[in-house]
Amino acid sequence: MVVKGGCLCAKVHYEVTEPLFNADHCHCSMCRRQHGAAFATYAEFKSGNFKWTSGEKFVKVFEPLADVGWCFCGECGSTLAGTDKGKIRTITLGTVEGDPGTRPESHIFVGSKAEWHDICDNLPQFEERPPKT
Ligand SMILES: [Zn+2]
Ligand SMILES: [Zn+2]
Repeated sequence: MVVKGGCLCAKVHYEVTEPLFNADHCHCSMCRRQHGAAFATYAEFKSGNFKWTSGEKFVKVFEPLADVGWCFCGECGSTLAGTDKGKIRTITLGTVEGDPGTRPESHIFVGSKAEWHDICDNLPQFEERPPKT
């Protein structure tokens, strides 16, 4: 299975050549600011199976903490991927073309969610990051 995605201005595209897993909605204050949204939705993949297929030169990286960062298009601002210790570990489900083949399984960092946003589904909620399974 190949998952493809790209940014709003269509300069940057990426590809993940294996199924995604561990999709979640992150409500932490950094993701909210970085996306300008109530929460951000990511999915993981086993490392090494991600590649930029176009526009890599437009990709900017912002890593405020050693284990928290994002890759975004420097032209249009779309957030495409999340980094951990300098490596791309997640993609943003909002930038996937078509069906990503996975569905969000939980809400994380609900302890810092936006006051104005009510979670209206039955997915499990975690105050911070759930223990790794
Ligand atoms: Zn773009
Ligand atoms: Zn977050």
